[in-house]
Amino acid sequence: MQYYSTNGSAPIADLHKAVVKGLAEDRGLYMPERINKLPKAFFENIDKMSFQELAYTVANAFFGEDVDSDALHDIVYDTLAFDCPVVKVTDNIYSLELFHGPTLAFKDVGARFMARLLQYFIRQENKGEEVNVLVATSGDTGSAVANGFLGVDGIHVYVLYPKGKVSPIQECQFTTLGKNITAIEVDGVFDDCQALVKSAFMDVELNHHMKLTSANSINVARFLPQAFYYFNAYARMKQQGKNEQLVMCVPSGNFGNICAALFGHQMGLPVKRFIAANNANDIFYKYLLSGKYEPKPSVQTLANAMDVGDPSNFARILNLYSQNGALTPEKTHEAITSLISGATYSDDQIRKTMQQCYRETGYTLDPHGACGYQALADGLQEGEIGVFCETAHPAKFKEKVDEILNIDVTIPDRLAAFMKGEKQSVPMTKNFADFKQYLLKQ
Ligand SMILES: *Cc1c(COP(=O)(O)O)cnc(C)c1O
Repeated sequence: MQYYSTNGSAPIADLHKAVVKGLAEDRGLYMPERINKLPKAFFENIDKMSFQELAYTVANAFFGEDVDSDALHDIVYDTLAFDCPVVKVTDNIYSLELFHGPTLAFKDVGARFMARLLQYFIRQENKGEEVNVLVATSGDTGSAVANGFLGVDGIHVYVLYPKGKVSPIQECQFTTLGKNITAIEVDGVFDDCQALVKSAFMDVELNHHMKLTSANSINVARFLPQAFYYFNAYARMKQQGKNEQLVMCVPSGNFGNICAALFGHQMGLPVKRFIAANNANDIFYKYLLSGKYEPKPSVQTLANAMDVGDPSNFARILNLYSQNGALTPEKTHEAITSLISGATYSDDQIRKTMQQCYRETGYTLDPHGACGYQALADGLQEGEIGVFCETAHPAKFKEKVDEILNIDVTIPDRLAAFMKGEKQSVPMTKNFADFKQYLLKQ
């Protein structure tokens, strides 16, 4: 399979290159040249398949031409070694729990998949050269990437995070791992961490010294595997005879997760329509209303993993529904709004939703899932069944959830284990010269 850039002026890449480079030369995002439709028989039998089985079929449609089938099978089964259940919350609203992976959030799947795919390509090259992944994080991405790459030989990961700016629960998830994971505690803010990573990728001397790559969420190997979740949601709903008139609602920030769902839809997944639920960062919501995309600086909210003012995957959604630029902006907007609607919620509304849902149903929402739940409660029409993604375990945001619901959320064993580990990190200034010197010594 070949991958083209959403900006249209970079050379076509194969999967290996798209995964290693992440971003195309023209700063565009890679798109697969084809989206293979899955046969009708697959959807008829999908309810009898396990998460791993159905995901392997989906993975084959994307990656089957480029990855040996035994290896792909191994990668999928290793990545999805946990549950992805659909839980009934009200008569017509179901929660798709994407938080049963190692760090209790949905990014685990993409991160692990990417780690294993990268390892596959490194082994094929067989030069014995170690690859170094640099990742800047404000909390969540770092833990998913660090755990996804943990123990994957041939790859070393450097996680850069702003000192004192990530929650203790998040921090322990990437500072206590050891092995091939190094946490770098930067005396600065998240933007400083990101600037250090960007400078490193552009530094000629450093790139001669070591092989550098990113594990950005825009990487095709991280975002495409998230499509597995939606096929599983359909399968589990079909098992209960609830697969007609399905509405899938995705709490969205950078729009990678919903983009993967839309790829699933293009492959034939029978979902009636989608809702993108936003917090107060409502750029996409406004685009749906006006047809104008106007990025702006993000504002801080309770659902902070969705605090994005210029969602990168918007470019992929535009590219998909404009048929790679063939349609006018008006026709593209029409195509998008006929399938996707939006919603936006303030912190006050998020709080109210969490409280009301807990009181009326006993279900504990985290602030991100709360946006998804509320968008369904507000937007479902007669006869429709809604499934929203609960993107993180409420314990990941324990301080907030406890305070809002006046409860004491139980911390799952996996998370508790991280918190018992010893924090190890390398202190770093925000000056690139210091970071470069450090890397040159590795
Ligand atoms: C990353 C994240 C989101 C947003 O997902 P996107 O793919 O960026 O739209 C939502 N909830 C949680 C908990 C996240 O970590």
